[in-house]
Amino acid sequence: KMNTDIGQHVLKNPGIAAAIVDKAELKQSDVVLEIGPGTGNLTAKIMEKAKKVIAVELDPRMAAEVTKRFQSTPAQKRLDVILGDVMKTELPYFDVCISNTPYQISSPLTFKLLATSPAPRVCILMFQREFALRLFAKPGDKLYSRLSVNAQMWAKIDHIMKVGKNNFKPPPLVESSVIRMVPKNPRPQINYEEWDGLLRIAFVRKNKTLRSSFIGTPSIMNILEANYRTWCAQNDIPVEDGPAETADGDAMDMSHEQGDDEGPDETMDMDEDDDVPDFFKEETSRMQEALKNQPARKKRGKVAELVREKVRQVLEDESGLADKRARMCDENDFLKLLWAFNQKGIHFN
Ligand code: SAM
Repeated sequence: KMNTDIGQHVLKNPGIAAAIVDKAELKQSDVVLEIGPGTGNLTAKIMEKAKKVIAVELDPRMAAEVTKRFQSTPAQKRLDVILGDVMKTELPYFDVCISNTPYQISSPLTFKLLATSPAPRVCILMFQREFALRLFAKPGDKLYSRLSVNAQMWAKIDHIMKVGKNNFKPPPLVESSVIRMVPKNPRPQINYEEWDGLLRIAFVRKNKTLRSSFIGTPSIMNILEANYRTWCAQNDIPVEDGPAETADGDAMDMSHEQGDDEGPDETMDMDEDDDVPDFFKEETSRMQEALKNQPARKKRGKVAELVREKVRQVLEDESGLADKRARMCDENDFLKLLWAFNQKGIHFN
């Protein structure tokens, strides 16, 4: 009896199992990690091509079944079954990952694989179609989101094939897709919290210009000011407090700039990407709170004015991205932005 609560949909079409393994282009010397072997249909195909398979399975009945399947065969010594939740398991060394993934852990598993060191040579993963489409969406695509930029920052991702629900037993409710994920090598040396913090701000409203998402959003500017003060304190840089000395009315906080949206989609995407791992939980809720309670119009202080000018310089003068919308920016645009912001002491964590 299958437990569909933990995504037990066994691949019953052997042609597809073989095609998935083919796409990994395995070498005889490879150690392959398989997540959720189930009854072992995919495992059997991998065993034909690789030196060794490490299979992590949550369900003890399935772990027993896949173990039994290879017992007293010559392949037995080449299979290690680890009983447990892959998200809580410290993974041993592997060259390649192949998985018909339990869909409820798609996002955390993707980022766990991308954080693995040394990076696997390639991962061939079956996902729910919608999740797969979001993973490899490009700037301008409807499904382009924070998840897309984040995944593509660390890996090259391609679509390999569509798999209809009737290839599984029992058939799941959703269609599936197999993707290939090749982690970038060497791994980009950036601070994940900083990077993700920047993306969160940019993608709150992905149809707005970056100028509007930053300078036109007082609550975001307040967070950046607070971060700037922290950064100055940590680096022994004195900050000059007090009201800004600008002409009357000039230093008033403007509410959201109007007329800047493109298309009808005015909705906040705040939760759309909730499946990106939350190393950043506190910051998110801080940001969400801040956005709900837009501060009343008030005179800006000197530090706020300084931060605003720094942000303006980065967006307008240094990156030239002020008029670009997040949904059109690729990972290189965001990298350029992050670097320029950090140069000026503007931080996102
Ligand atoms: N690989 C098999 C196949 O293709 O026929 C079964 C795939 S089935 C979609 C997902 C498998 O992952 C199930 O056997 C399930 O028990 C297991 N599983 C679910 N959550 C897991 C987790 N957190 N860690 C490890 N295995 C998990």
